[in-house]
Amino acid sequence: MALSKRITTLTSDASGGWDLFLRARAMKAAGVDVTELTIGEHDIRTDPAILDEMHRAALAGHTGYADIPGIPALRDEVAARIEAASGIKTTRDNVLVTPGGQSGLFASHMALCDPGQNALFIDPYYATYPGTIRGAGAIPCPVAARPENGFQPDPADIDAVAAGGAASLMINTPNNPTGVVYSRETLEGIAEVARARDLWVISDEVYDSQVWEGRHLSIRAIEGMAERTLVVGSMSKSHAMTGSRIGWVVGPQEVVGHMINLSTHTTYGVAGYIQNAALFALRRGARAEEEVAAPFRRRREIALGVLAGQNALRLVPPQGAMYLMLDIRATGMSGSGFAEKLLDECHIAVMPGESFGAAAAGHIRVAMTIEDSAFGNALKKLVDFAQAQI
Ligand code: PMP
Repeated sequence: MALSKRITTLTSDASGGWDLFLRARAMKAAGVDVTELTIGEHDIRTDPAILDEMHRAALAGHTGYADIPGIPALRDEVAARIEAASGIKTTRDNVLVTPGGQSGLFASHMALCDPGQNALFIDPYYATYPGTIRGAGAIPCPVAARPENGFQPDPADIDAVAAGGAASLMINTPNNPTGVVYSRETLEGIAEVARARDLWVISDEVYDSQVWEGRHLSIRAIEGMAERTLVVGSMSKSHAMTGSRIGWVVGPQEVVGHMINLSTHTTYGVAGYIQNAALFALRRGARAEEEVAAPFRRRREIALGVLAGQNALRLVPPQGAMYLMLDIRATGMSGSGFAEKLLDECHIAVMPGESFGAAAAGHIRVAMTIEDSAFGNALKKLVDFAQAQI
């Protein structure tokens, strides 16, 4: 029986990253002591106080269909959070609660792109981006952000790709996988292109609580952008709630209205007890988010120490998020060649840069998601390994 092209071509550009990840998992299952520095998942679990609230809410009866756009109190809380951070007036009518940021990214493309329209995104990119765009029927068009610019996107490059016609541009700051936090100058340049080319901007801000240098700025806060921007947020990273599948999209009321319609026909909303727990977690304020982010801040410092005074690996200084992007071009190897050999010889699993797009070739991504001393030791081994390749 025939399947739709939409589904059979969804991940047609998936490269070696997942293969390596699965190989590492298989080695581990076979009893090999593999250090996994691959996926973006905290080494802590969701705070038990949040789970208590989830339990309380479930026992209190919040187990039926919940309001599809999100429960009003949670939409209000998200609106207040976004307004406080951006200074842009935001109400519950601007907020759609979604089962995680990922479904928000998909719903945004469904809302903004007609089938066959171009949808731009910045390369290196979070691995699901091209498939998300394809799933919505649009055509993924990468715009390379260059390592020599510290992976800040160049508005002129976006403009050149947008010149071919496009409905939307997806950006991501703080960025996975590069750790770059877009500067005000970058964002103003992107905003100018978006206005000139009449593009919608989908701003993936799921790492907004993990900023190590400078300040997170949302493009929605830039003049004239609120009317053409959808901000995608999530509690996966900020509250270590990856498994709870809770996030949001914030944008113009008219778009949110259509997206509520989409939710009615796809997800039918998010579990009420999860939403109650999310509300409780957000109301605990910024301190709780800082605590969740603290291990990554510490490990970033550890990495800066271990990587100082050697030149086999060049660190793209991570300004945000939970990863290190390491330039391994001094070894003359590809990111995937390096990662495969590292796994075989040192039993350390990292993601090849190429799995995040052509612009990340010759790099590897290291997730800072294991306990501090084990992390420091793994990095030291990684440095020794890289030096031995030169
Ligand atoms: N965007 C980026 C850049 C991510 O790294 C992730 C998860 N790793 C997501 C979106 C989606 O996260 P979630 O669906 O868990 O909110």
